[in-house]
Amino acid sequence: VVATEIVPPFANTAVDGYAVRAADVAGADAEPVDRVVVGEIAAGAAPDREVGDGEAVRIMTGAPMPGGADAVVMVEDSERLGVGEDGVERVRLSASVPVGAAIRPAGDDVKVGDELFPVGTVVTPPVEGVLASVNAQNVEVYPRVTVAVLSTGDELIDDGSPLEMGQIRESNRTMLAGMLAESGCDVVDLGIVPDDEAELERVLRSAAEECDAIVSSGGVSMGDYDVVKAVLGRIADMTWMQMAIKPAKPFAFGTLTGSDGVPVPVFGLPGNPVSSLVSYELMARPALRQMMGHPDIDRLRLRAVTDVDLNRRPDGKTHFARVNGSFGDDGRYHVVPVGAQGSHQLAATASADAMVVLTDGDGASAGDEIDAILLR
Ligand code: AMP
Ligand code: MG
Repeated sequence: VVATEIVPPFANTAVDGYAVRAADVAGADAEPVDRVVVGEIAAGAAPDREVGDGEAVRIMTGAPMPGGADAVVMVEDSERLGVGEDGVERVRLSASVPVGAAIRPAGDDVKVGDELFPVGTVVTPPVEGVLASVNAQNVEVYPRVTVAVLSTGDELIDDGSPLEMGQIRESNRTMLAGMLAESGCDVVDLGIVPDDEAELERVLRSAAEECDAIVSSGGVSMGDYDVVKAVLGRIADMTWMQMAIKPAKPFAFGTLTGSDGVPVPVFGLPGNPVSSLVSYELMARPALRQMMGHPDIDRLRLRAVTDVDLNRRPDGKTHFARVNGSFGDDGRYHVVPVGAQGSHQLAATASADAMVVLTDGDGASAGDEIDAILLR
């Protein structure tokens, strides 16, 4: 976005006070001077008179500077004397001010031709404010991606009814819908899909018609009822993956092409809730942000110091432990694990501020520096 207007559009006062000629009030701090009030300008009004020596114009914050005046004396440094016997209003000014005092010059914030926002700028509320300030009513943006989210599993219910043996309450899709929204995506909730290949195929195909990406949970590991794996293997162009990470080893990525011929990326996240979260963070979120033109696709990473031993065993995998973190008096980011680290224990992970990266090996000892990925 290149500015076609200046901001502010005219020189104006930053304070309530009196517009004067600076030279005319020199020495007023030592000995106050009385000046004739020849007018008043409120914000939104146009000046209709020049200010000369011996004169002052009462002026309100944001009002345009009158011609002739080159400084403003704050109202706090003035005293109203009222209208005298000669029918003339006067003000006593008790501060001297340099030329330009309390004046905001025209174009002080934005000049015509300024490149305000390069490609990739995230349109935050302050950016929207600036766009409004320069009358940029229509700007080109990357659209949000519309993402279908679904969970799979015959065991899942979300209708509030009492649990029967074998059933659990669905949680991933609820979580992922929120995480997608937080990532800037528009979300289409496709609900719970049973472990039924025909039904899953129908849902996935219609998702590929309507959405820019698909995020599913469950059904991508090695079990007999891992139907996501089976169906996508048949109808989509899949790159099956087993990630060398813990949690979130099972993962499926590929594309499902709709009738318009556009390949729709599919992120098959694992069903264990913590795995789903970690997998979303590491795989889906950066990709979705890239699709939306974000220059920064990754979460903030920083060097953290662990306050306790973070034990693990060599297993060929990188571990992502969920931690609480806070900045200590030493200015460093101190972390401790959230407690339960099982991939099914979402309650403990829900309070995590970050994940720390434990590379393959024996873990980290208290006081060691490790990488942390901030989750918010
Ligand atoms: P799956 O990846 O389908 O083999 O599921 C792995 C584990 O995660 C199983 O214990 C599932 O019951 C559980 N699970 C799968 N999907 C969900 C979900 N949407 N909400 C909560 N738990 C789930
Ligand atoms: Mg399942």
